[in-house]
Amino acid sequence: MPKKWFDWSKGMPRAQSDFLILLALALPLFIFVVWVDALDKFFEYSRVHEEYEIDEILSFLFFVGIAAIVYSARRIADLRREIDQRRAVEAEAQRLARHDILTGLPNRRRFLEEFNSQVLKAGKDQRCALFVIDLDYFKPINDLYGHRLGDEVLRVVAQRLTDIVEDRGTVTRLGGDEFGIVMTVGQDDELPLSLARRIVHDIPRPINLAALSLEVAASVGVSMFDPKHEGGGEVDRRERNPVETVLRQADMAMYRAKMAGRARYRFFDNDMDQRLQQRVQLEREIRGAVERGEIVPYYQPLVNLQTEETIGYELLARWRHPTMGVLPPSLFIPIAEDTGVIGALTDSLLARGLKEAKAWPEHICLAVNLSPRQFADPMLVQKILDPLAASGFSPERLEIEITETAVVQRLEEAKTTLEALRKLGVRIALDDFGTGYSGLHHLRELQLDTIKIDRSFVSEMLKHADDEKLVEAIVSMGRVLGLRTMAEGIETKEVLEKLVALGCETGQGFLFGRPEPMTARALKKAHATHPSA
Ligand code: C2E
Ligand code: MG
Ligand code: MG
Repeated sequence: MPKKWFDWSKGMPRAQSDFLILLALALPLFIFVVWVDALDKFFEYSRVHEEYEIDEILSFLFFVGIAAIVYSARRIADLRREIDQRRAVEAEAQRLARHDILTGLPNRRRFLEEFNSQVLKAGKDQRCALFVIDLDYFKPINDLYGHRLGDEVLRVVAQRLTDIVEDRGTVTRLGGDEFGIVMTVGQDDELPLSLARRIVHDIPRPINLAALSLEVAASVGVSMFDPKHEGGGEVDRRERNPVETVLRQADMAMYRAKMAGRARYRFFDNDMDQRLQQRVQLEREIRGAVERGEIVPYYQPLVNLQTEETIGYELLARWRHPTMGVLPPSLFIPIAEDTGVIGALTDSLLARGLKEAKAWPEHICLAVNLSPRQFADPMLVQKILDPLAASGFSPERLEIEITETAVVQRLEEAKTTLEALRKLGVRIALDDFGTGYSGLHHLRELQLDTIKIDRSFVSEMLKHADDEKLVEAIVSMGRVLGLRTMAEGIETKEVLEKLVALGCETGQGFLFGRPEPMTARALKKAHATHPSA
């Protein structure tokens, strides 16, 4: 709207300014009437012309005038009420458009507006911090206890975040189980760091609802934006709209926190940006790589810990990338899952693995990893059986490794698939045990053969008494349930001895061999370690 050059009624209530206008009009009229002696002349005229009935007409007009004033006053009051109501409805609509109904927090739209406004307002020595907070372990709560309880958990988390941030920033719900915070801080202010720490620490406190004690955790990504460095002038700042970039960076940092094991925080750095570029490139290339056979099987020996004989090999995928070298699965399995290539990738690896394993000694088995996503595939069983039949490899020598995530998220599908496989003699192992959310209930439901104790407990068990106790507990639980236990990540003789003392039967780790392509030498060694050789 164009700016008025002189705004005399600035800040004045409407009624007051209207009154002043009336007064300004009435005053000159009054002066004019007095000056020309108008009233005297008018009465004189009406007395002379009695026959015109001017006084009656005037009386009539007087009452009409009063009636008109009363009517106008009522009409104005009505209009005022209507306007007030309309304004209230508009304000409510605005509030709803910018707030999340479930938690009452501002929503994503408001979040973006708030960030832009803080960037514009930020002083020379200030920076804006943008947090993205994603809950860990929320999905199982929703799946197991229903959406109503899930909603309650979200409300509690929203309240906790609001309590932590107080009035130092704006907390918002970005959607689903994702929250955000924006704030402006001084250049060297450590507030974002201390808040990130508190969030990671406070969110996992137990939530007591409906006689249940529930726990979620939070992975936090933070991106710091320095308006002074990034843009320059005011106009520049407005036009560049940095929010998309900063949000993407905070997202990336949050994703890193999740990758590092959840319930952590990460601040964005430029290194992450490079990794994102790499991810985009790999996303583009992965389908072609599977078709061209660039993703190949490596094998790591699985050993009997008592005798140190090789009893099998775990197939671990590697991508022989034409320019980036040999890539580990942590770089491309998540991409294969996200892009829907995981099925084709497993099919190709399984076919190659079974073909190679056919040449191994009879006592050596093959373990293959399945991704949780694959349990959604109704053809999964067929996709394992077909290459088995084609290779002539005995099903009893094949072990399928599944993760706890698959078990918890897709229990019914996993149960049906695994039952069908077990009927054919295929063995089932629960991988990375101890890192997820499966319980005794799952172990019993799924009729497993092996539990693999996660590397994180095994490798640190001599340094941390808690880890050792956990390993011991898992081994005894395996014994009670009649399951074979396998320890991952055995790197030293000391750890091996400890595991043997605890009664763990099998294991794998760099102490026995790293994942490698199957060479003739490795094969010979496997032949040689067999007692009957
Ligand atoms: P995993 O199935 O738990 O495999 C064991 C991982 O631990 C392997 O990592 C192996 O190299 C590593 N490892 C074994 N012993 C030691 C040790 O002594 N010290 C240390 N530091 N590490 C050890 P890798 O090959 O990088 O695989 C990582 C994960 O990627 C695997 O964990 C598995 O979950 C997934 N993965 C690998 N190949 C496939 C595949 O073909 N399909 C699917 N769906 N997932 C796969
Ligand atoms: Mg595995
Ligand atoms: Mg594992």
